[in-house]
Amino acid sequence: MYAILTPDSELRKVIETGTQAASNLCWACGTCDNECPINLASNRLSPRKIVRMASMGLLDELLSIPEIWYCLTCQRCLDVCPNGVKPAEVIRFIREESLRRQIVKWETLQDYEKLFGRFQRVRWHATVRCIQGELDAVTDDQWYAWLDTPVELPGTKITPKASADRTVYFRQMADSNITLCLTCSECTNCCPVFHERSVFDPQATIRMVNLGLTEELLHSPSIWLCIDCGRCSKACTQTVKARELIGRLRQMAIDGGYVSPRLPYQLKKAEKLLYPRLLDEIDACFGFSSGRILLSDIA
Ligand code: SF4
Ligand code: SF4
Ligand code: SF4
Repeated sequence: MYAILTPDSELRKVIETGTQAASNLCWACGTCDNECPINLASNRLSPRKIVRMASMGLLDELLSIPEIWYCLTCQRCLDVCPNGVKPAEVIRFIREESLRRQIVKWETLQDYEKLFGRFQRVRWHATVRCIQGELDAVTDDQWYAWLDTPVELPGTKITPKASADRTVYFRQMADSNITLCLTCSECTNCCPVFHERSVFDPQATIRMVNLGLTEELLHSPSIWLCIDCGRCSKACTQTVKARELIGRLRQMAIDGGYVSPRLPYQLKKAEKLLYPRLLDEIDACFGFSSGRILLSDIA
């Protein structure tokens, strides 16, 4: 189904004022689409098309498309745009407008946020499967069991080993600055995949390395949940680089034989199974009907 859409320059100005982003600078290069993790895994979210709609002033249409709620807020699209256009800011603005105009109710927003938290459990359980071998399919039973099964924190008391070799190594690495961490949790607060500490928490990861608990991290599925967006490293006032630290931990896990070198590839494959299901759950959460305008309808 294709819809006839009428550009509106006044509404374009409303969006530009609300986002402080000049969507008309977009030259439709598609770099944002190629970096968007949701788009790569599902082909169902195009930040480029959202910017295109914003530049046409299609505010009402933007308020009615489910894609606005598919975004992880990772800001990769914003970081990679060569023209300084901010697709993630357009999405933020449209979400806020949806709430302000009561198109979306607070209760729905709460359900949506809970869904994202439960989805990180799914990613954790799927990562365990990938570490153990391939994950070729996710059945309905598995999906709902993983959504509803919290990840348990290890019950045993962990003894700090602050002089462990790997901690000394990380302390000497100028590119992660872990010793400067004040445990303020700014990294955790801005991390788009942090929802439950037992699943994944960048600040806890830094703390564990500082306490010499690298070995525990190398065994943990959690370090594979980071989506490498870099928001934590940008947000840290102490210049601690959680993203770079997690990248090194992953490489150590591969080099040390804790996981297969094929794991990153297996996880990418798993994302293509998991994200489309998440988007279906989001559609159900907001009650989007099949008669809606899709981004694919916008030229
Ligand atoms: S990266 Fe920037 S210029 Fe390229 S399509 Fe996306 S918003 Fe437009
Ligand atoms: S913020 Fe991330 S998930 Fe959202 S549109 Fe941009 S790249 Fe995609
Ligand atoms: S790079 Fe940082 S903010 Fe982004 S997912 Fe990883 S830990 Fe979270």
